[in-house]
Amino acid sequence: MQKYVLVTGGAGYIGSHACKALKAAGYVPVTFDNLETGWEEAVKFGPFERGDLLDRARLDEVFAKWNPIAVMHFAALSQVGEAVAEPGRYWRVNVGGSLNLIEAAIAAGCLDFVFSSTCATYGDQDGVVLDENTQQTPSNPYGSSKRAIEEMLRDFGVAHGLRHVIYRYFNVAGADPAGEVGEFHQPETHLIPLMLDVVSGKRPALTLFGTDYPTPDGTCVRDYVHVSDLVDAHVLGLRWLEDGKGSRVFCLGTGAGFSVREVVSEARAVTNQDVPMNIGPRRPGDAVSLVSGSARAVKELGWAPSRSSMQQMISDAWRWHENGHYNK
Ligand code: UDP
Repeated sequence: MQKYVLVTGGAGYIGSHACKALKAAGYVPVTFDNLETGWEEAVKFGPFERGDLLDRARLDEVFAKWNPIAVMHFAALSQVGEAVAEPGRYWRVNVGGSLNLIEAAIAAGCLDFVFSSTCATYGDQDGVVLDENTQQTPSNPYGSSKRAIEEMLRDFGVAHGLRHVIYRYFNVAGADPAGEVGEFHQPETHLIPLMLDVVSGKRPALTLFGTDYPTPDGTCVRDYVHVSDLVDAHVLGLRWLEDGKGSRVFCLGTGAGFSVREVVSEARAVTNQDVPMNIGPRRPGDAVSLVSGSARAVKELGWAPSRSSMQQMISDAWRWHENGHYNK
């Protein structure tokens, strides 16, 4: 019997890699995506259902059609700067959309739920290494919206038996090593793809968003994890739920912090080209440093990230950047 998994945001960057990993593990990923930021071309590993999380009737229809064993919920608005400027959209789409999805899943009797949360739920914590027990004090509406969804999952778990694995992602980077899917946003806002646009001459220079942070070189520090390692953890999380191990939160980072300048130096080394830079103002909502411990995921899930060195992430991203992109 086929095991269908409903993947919201399956046409997006992380969701499309998750679909590939699910298929390789023997599941059938059913992508649910409104294609606002996703790409139909990225839906390569299972059926596609176009739909919007705010459309409950459409969600009910899709649950009835596929009868999925679980949901992997990636679909969300995810840009810090935009969230600060337009909080209403973040609360409506992220929180309202997730509420619809959770209620539709429960109504359909689909009670295993894997959720993409974020290190942005921690906010500024002054240099501490963040883990699952660290208090969540988000410093922007993106982080607040994701924290609210975490709380929602816990409440629906108590009331309706929803079992959830929550992943708090650190910065996701790289691309499928086989080049079938990769990162492609329009417009692009993320550091590594923007930097590679500069290397390939598509943009004149990278703007450093603040060089006066209290870090060794003045730029923000982040913990980067390879998208293929990240989605491997999702398959492990699905099995965890299937095995009846219950609801759990996991941080997915590597524990290594890289400043923006350090990421740029690694890109110079990998591509053997210069990255012209400008210094700009701080971006509203940015935390100084977000670095994770991943001990729980390693110990309990058996997660073994193997491609998350900065060198490997940039070279995989670079190969994708040179060869692949999607068209509407
Ligand atoms: N950043 C930057 N210039 C850019 C894009 C990003 O200096 O053009 C910085 C940003 O301020 C943050 C880090 O790079 O400190 C990673 O940003 P990104 O948007 O990739 O991910 P986020 O940390 O917001 O999830």
